[in-house]
Amino acid sequence: MSNQPSKSPGTPARAIVIGAGIVGVCCALELRKKGFDVTILDRVAPGESCSFGNAGVLAAWACVPASMPGTLGQVPRWLLDPDGPLAIRPWYLPRLAPWLVRFLRAGRAARIPAIADALLAVNGPTVALYKALAKEAGAPELIRESAYLHVSRDPQGFDLDAPDWRLRKERGATLTPLAGGELRELEPALDPAYRSGVMVAPQGHTTNPGRLVKVLAEYFQRLGGEVRQAEVLGLSPQPSGPVRLETTAGEFAADRLVVAAGAWSAKLAAWIGVKIPLEAERGYHVTFAEPGIELRHTVTEAKRMVIATSMEPGLRVAGTAEFAGLDAAPNWRRARALARLAKRLLPGLDTARPSEWMGQRPALPDSLPVIGPAPTAPDVVFAFGHGHTGLTAAPMTARIVAGMVAGEPLDLDVSPYRVERF
Ligand SMILES: Cc1cc2nc3c(=O)[nH]c(=O)nc-3n(C[C@H](O)[C@H](O)[C@H](O)COP(=O)(O)OP(=O)(O)OC[C@H]3O[C@@H](n4cnc5c(N)ncnc54)[C@H](O)[C@@H]3O)c2cc1C
Repeated sequence: MSNQPSKSPGTPARAIVIGAGIVGVCCALELRKKGFDVTILDRVAPGESCSFGNAGVLAAWACVPASMPGTLGQVPRWLLDPDGPLAIRPWYLPRLAPWLVRFLRAGRAARIPAIADALLAVNGPTVALYKALAKEAGAPELIRESAYLHVSRDPQGFDLDAPDWRLRKERGATLTPLAGGELRELEPALDPAYRSGVMVAPQGHTTNPGRLVKVLAEYFQRLGGEVRQAEVLGLSPQPSGPVRLETTAGEFAADRLVVAAGAWSAKLAAWIGVKIPLEAERGYHVTFAEPGIELRHTVTEAKRMVIATSMEPGLRVAGTAEFAGLDAAPNWRRARALARLAKRLLPGLDTARPSEWMGQRPALPDSLPVIGPAPTAPDVVFAFGHGHTGLTAAPMTARIVAGMVAGEPLDLDVSPYRVERF
């Protein structure tokens, strides 16, 4: 990639971002602030895909990859439990197998510290960056400081010397063990059957992930950026000259192109000859519009890995990982299982008026995103694959992307995010 953002003196370079999820919108904002002439292209309105319905956690402490030593041993138990945290549709297993092999390989003990450091580098600054962005955009109420409460029915509590807890502790997270009474002081709505917990800080949460994306997209437009609703159908980088995009709204040309198309990004990368092991890891939520109770923190049920957060649209319970590819119909039984777990966790919850949702996390086997230029087309920059922490990592990803596109020196080692690792 050339180091100059402008094609000719005085003319801002044209940058296109494919994807109006949280990652694409944050990238577009940072590029606009650097003076690029920026257009976002998405087939849907901003924040309508995976970024719409997540659990809202700004997980500044998140550094534990999904694949860890010992993960394989837990898989049969998870798969056998119909309300469990993991489901694989049997017909999809042969297609998923190569990804699973890479996933398990990524979980070798020797690789974990480097992955954890690279995760923390993009996740750690999240709360401060979002607070600044939401304030600039005129909606500071969308970001709150909070803590993450892991809760369990087991009175023995959590083994804070286990590898996952050690990773967090060694990287600066504050872990506070809690007994049942202390849990209920923090969250009175919790079922008394929950007898132990751990409070993890620092973190924050957004009170409305979908509105957050829309507010940031509107702010981007106020700064002079453009949002166009169009599906990108093909990409042709030119040896010299702009990248050409074929879309449902006609042809576009970009001096710099950012691919932030979430779980669909592998298809776009393949158009320019780059193969990426990206899977759609489907998750569900149920939001109760009139819950009758409120949580102050994010509460996660240790065994089932469901996350409950109070939000503007209501009390949301989100989670589960399901592998069935990009196009299979949702299995709403998984959302109903979340609703049952929510009632178990919070017995006073009014479960009338639930709304159900399914979204596709862009999942790479080593839990790290791809951030960096395409090896086949240096004016194309990839920004996708954030899996479980895309909301958290979006603002830092955007800073890295904007710095790369502008040809500025970066004060962070970006080699762990290179696509060439696959
Ligand atoms: C149940 C659940 C809970 C979660 N909880 C959290 C959480 O608490 N904290 C956290 O940090 N993360 C969480 N996540 C993960 C987070 O939501 C995702 O990592 C993040 O939303 C991904 O953002 P994105 O912008 O990459 O993708 P998306 O939001 O999916 O956006 C990608 C966009 O690209 C567009 N696109 C794709 N192909 C094309 C094309 N050819 N032409 C035009 N447009 C195209 C799509 O239409 C889409 O709008 C959760 C996810 C789920 C499912």
